[in-house]
Amino acid sequence: MPNNRMPLIAGNWKMNKNYTEGVTLAQDLSNALGNGVDGVEVVVCPPFTDLKGVAGVIDFDHAPFGLGAQNVYWEASGAYTGEISCDMLTSVGCTYCIVGHSERRDYFGETDEDINRKVKALLAAGLKPISCCGESLEVREAGKQVEFVVNQIKADLAGVELATGDELVIAYEPIWAIGTGKTATPDDAQEVCGAIRETLVELLGEDVANKVRVLYGGSAKPGNIAGFMACPDVDGALVGGASLVAADFAQMVERAI
Ligand code: PEP
Repeated sequence: MPNNRMPLIAGNWKMNKNYTEGVTLAQDLSNALGNGVDGVEVVVCPPFTDLKGVAGVIDFDHAPFGLGAQNVYWEASGAYTGEISCDMLTSVGCTYCIVGHSERRDYFGETDEDINRKVKALLAAGLKPISCCGESLEVREAGKQVEFVVNQIKADLAGVELATGDELVIAYEPIWAIGTGKTATPDDAQEVCGAIRETLVELLGEDVANKVRVLYGGSAKPGNIAGFMACPDVDGALVGGASLVAADFAQMVERAI
């Protein structure tokens, strides 16, 4: 089947940018992107407190990017102090949400079971999960990266049913390459992203699996994005550090096709 997946470049701002700074970054990105790049979808994922302000920039400037959150809770409402529901994200204009980032797994103890619940809640609410997976340096050095990531995908997507496949994004982010300046090579990325695609075929069937976008993440920047985009099973990037500099992020979008 031909690959007609739309490349996606998503920025994960993490816990950076207060409200004013977030609005400024969104405006700078809107200016840097102009009318956007045909054939590339762009999403930014600011902290919760910036979502409404960035949504305002998207509406007012007709900015060529969509809005995502960095986390969600699976319950609809109630006594869950500090948590944010799918409906709350939708109500401020989000269409995407990152789940299962390695920082959430490592620092906040999120499990594959939690991530599975979040993925299901997002899909049920019509939001698109960007579900992250990836191995530690120890796993990579033991040569077990494919087995490890395939197991994560199976657990994170257990019982998930998709209508078309467009509504799910997987981000392969080797932990040893996140924020370290160490990047995986395109061959490293393709090895694991190819295995992710095969696992998606097994879980969801070929037609649906071929519409799920699989991103690479981990010190992706303007200078290396083209190499990743040339991999048959890499459909874009989840970008941390470089998404905080409008000119760099815009350059990555331009180089994504
Ligand atoms: C991330 O944390 O999602 C990420 C890819 O970060 P960086 O690009 O800074 O490595």
